[in-house]
Amino acid sequence: MSSLVDDDEDGFAPPELKVVVIGISGVGKTSICVRYVHGEFQEFISPTIGASFLQKVVRIQNYPLCLQIWDTAGQERFRAMTPLYYRNSKAAIIVFDASNDQSFHKAKRCVQDLRKHVPGDIVLSLCANKIDVLGRLTPTRMDEHLADAFEFARANEMVFFTTSAKDNVGIHDMFQDVARRLLKKYLVERENQIMQMRNRKNSESNPFFRERADSFARVKLNAVPESKGSCC
Ligand code: GDP
Ligand code: MG
Repeated sequence: MSSLVDDDEDGFAPPELKVVVIGISGVGKTSICVRYVHGEFQEFISPTIGASFLQKVVRIQNYPLCLQIWDTAGQERFRAMTPLYYRNSKAAIIVFDASNDQSFHKAKRCVQDLRKHVPGDIVLSLCANKIDVLGRLTPTRMDEHLADAFEFARANEMVFFTTSAKDNVGIHDMFQDVARRLLKKYLVERENQIMQMRNRKNSESNPFFRERADSFARVKLNAVPESKGSCC
């Protein structure tokens, strides 16, 4: 059976996919978002009030996706608003400062908090930013330093990234990976929806389907296979 996913690349309207960037104040969330969307870095940047919102269209395997990137404020006083920011988010990037252990412990709390508000299958990434500050460490020492974070990410089914918004390291790759995982999920969900619609249509017009409509509607399709080639 040919895949519906492959059929209609051309007529594909870019879905808008919400990505929230969270973590305590000062870890570099705004810098990461601005670096990714505008390609800039500012040493002195005003703290985010509430949340700000940036948008970028990316192409993954010829599919355009519109990432709506929500850069949230890390301060405690905006905590009451977090359910609002999390609503309908398809992916979350939890950021901590690689040179600040305290920020990693707070990031772990952020993940627990996030899980209370979002579906279990949200696309999650853990981001150790400011790795330029650890620049004097050897790769082995760097791995040791970040071992806990790596283990935490593995245990929580998150993909772990090390980034520097300042030196433009790892930011593009991180968002590309998020977009790739989002696309994969989106296509599977869409294929399931199309199949259900077709089954419903068939069941209305055909006695064979009409009798078996319930079982057909529950058919689950296999996941889209992992892409091996480059992304765009
Ligand atoms: P936010 O509160 O999490 O949004 O953090 P900001 O983006 O406002 O950044 C806080 C401070 O950290 C600012 O002075 C940034 O210039 C600085 N900063 C952000 N990313 C990096 C980075 O990758 N390396 C270094 N050295 N500084 C960074
Ligand atoms: Mg900010």
